Amino acid sequence: MSILKALWPLRTAETPAPPAPLPEAPPPGPKEPADVSQGPFRALVESLPDPVLVIEGDPDEPAARRIVFANAAARDLLPGRLEGMRLVTALRNPELLEAVDEALLGAPGSAQMETGGAQERVWAVQTRPLGQGEFGRLALLTLRDETDVRRAERMRVDFLANASHELRTPLASLTGFIETLRGHARDDEAARDTFLGIMQAQAERMRRLIDDLMSLSRIELNEHIAPEGRLDLALAVTDVLDALVPLVREKNLSIGNEMPARGAAEIEGDRDQILQVIQNLVENAVKYSSNGGALEISVAAPVRDDSAAPPRDAAATRMTLLSPDRTQGRRFALLRVTDHGPGIPRDRLPRLTERFYRVEGQKSGGLRPGTGLGLAIVKHIVNRHRGGMAVESAEGHGASFTVWLPLSEKDVADRDER
Ligand code: ADP
Repeated sequence: MSILKALWPLRTAETPAPPAPLPEAPPPGPKEPADVSQGPFRALVESLPDPVLVIEGDPDEPAARRIVFANAAARDLLPGRLEGMRLVTALRNPELLEAVDEALLGAPGSAQMETGGAQERVWAVQTRPLGQGEFGRLALLTLRDETDVRRAERMRVDFLANASHELRTPLASLTGFIETLRGHARDDEAARDTFLGIMQAQAERMRRLIDDLMSLSRIELNEHIAPEGRLDLALAVTDVLDALVPLVREKNLSIGNEMPARGAAEIEGDRDQILQVIQNLVENAVKYSSNGGALEISVAAPVRDDSAAPPRDAAATRMTLLSPDRTQGRRFALLRVTDHGPGIPRDRLPRLTERFYRVEGQKSGGLRPGTGLGLAIVKHIVNRHRGGMAVESAEGHGASFTVWLPLSEKDVADRDER
């Protein structure tokens, strides 16, 4: 039996062939899609995940193109009883119709089609000639959902464009100052000192950007590999705070902290990465606090999730930026960093962990400007550790960032035994 015969559900005694000229209404036929038991090939095509259609028609008579077979995926995608329906009634995309005509003429074709609705989707369309049918020439039409591939491609292109733009700005400034120093400022000693200072700051900025980009790509590379090692989250916070003393002094900030008993917040994790999470969150809190302000940093364990942390205040909006692994019985150590800086407008909260995203109009309190990558790095690290992340903020009321990380299994078992 040929493949075509095996696929052929329509030309049976119950479904007479449409007379020429073809009628508007689909020919009468069984209500249910044709029985898949008609052959192994039909069952196979029927169960393919991609929509597959067979079109019969005459390329010189576009109105006569009819669908003579549609598999389950095609029936899910397109409304109505497809078999017997005119192709233009089901699919109006001109590029697709042209590709079908090409196949009816004997050459393979391809097209791209977008479908709207609640969720926009992009489809790659392929057509192939299938030879002569009973009432006209036949063409195979397959659709492949390429929405995710296109989205990933767009993200990659946007990322490259953003990264180059971010690097180009300080580079342009450096080049400008070099030209000035070689030109009219050549003998101006005071100008030279000022310009060299600015050049150093710009070179620093480029270095920070490259460091952050490298970190992000390293983290992404092993994001699917569970971290090895154990550490006490509370001790890690203390280490980071010790290292940030000069920054905290510079802004004359007071830091309140609340820590659990030693060993209570033992987590499974990559120490360097966890230190980076804490550092990025605390650095932001310092950066966006005004001089003489106050920060609160707390660690709590064991907790079931971040609901253990009391809400900040009535004005603040809370948003989950990353949901943790909620495997039954999982318990977490929770880190919370709170500042009383400018806060973040409610509508900006969902975008905070996007790469290079910065809330416009915010001043970083005289400290070095950020790269817009800090929170993206935090999110990827926490994701690798199967933890969660949330923010609470209201414009003008400061911000609280909360991260919760799974406690080490052994630690939980020991505690349960006690
Ligand atoms: P950056 O390096 O620019 O700080 P991040 O990814 O760490 O990048 O943060 C992204 C943006 O989120 C910041 O540019 C800032 O606009 C906002 N933001 C982050 N933390 C705070 C905070 N504690 N208070 C107010 N705004 C913040």
